[in-house]
Amino acid sequence: MLSADFGKLASEVEMVNNSEADWFHLDIMDGLFVPNISYGFPVVKAIAAGAKKPLDAHLMIQDPDRYIDQFAEAGVNYLSVHWEACTHLHRTLEHIRAAGMKPGIALNPHTPVNILYDILPQAHFILIMSVNPGFGGQKFIEGSLGKIKKLREIASKIAPECLIEVDGGVSMQNAPLLAEAGADILVAGNTIFSHPSPAEAIGLLKRLGK
Ligand code: ZN
Repeated sequence: MLSADFGKLASEVEMVNNSEADWFHLDIMDGLFVPNISYGFPVVKAIAAGAKKPLDAHLMIQDPDRYIDQFAEAGVNYLSVHWEACTHLHRTLEHIRAAGMKPGIALNPHTPVNILYDILPQAHFILIMSVNPGFGGQKFIEGSLGKIKKLREIASKIAPECLIEVDGGVSMQNAPLLAEAGADILVAGNTIFSHPSPAEAIGLLKRLGK
């Protein structure tokens, strides 16, 4: 939703409701963990009020534990926190689960997937950042494909149910490659909202990423 027009948020939410999209992806930035501020609870609640599909919130914030319960109360279903932002990640994931949400771990482009080995079974999904977090509309970092493949290989042995989400620079061109590498969930912002028909772009992307 970071690429949506916030001046007509209700109709943007309705477009996603009526499209083939499965989830709403909400990027939350605090201006500390990432060099940008996105939006907070009033906007999350406004999206939740109109959304007829699950909400997936991606917290690019330091010390995310402080806000877990508030995201649950706001109506979020999937909550990911950054590996780089959590000192006690195991406890954080348990907190997210206890609050009634599915916990995810997000990784910055420079963080290797093998550090997930001992925590992977606790996560419902892993979010691979394929751009540096902080802004929409950036170019896909090619090395991310190899990372997804490696993560799929590790997960198949120790956490076969764990889903892989890719976020950043997802396009019509790389969607088939991402699916082939093992991605289950593709996050797209600019590719959708800069298209003359966003709903059509979602349908196209879904077929390409199958
Ligand atoms: Zn995101």
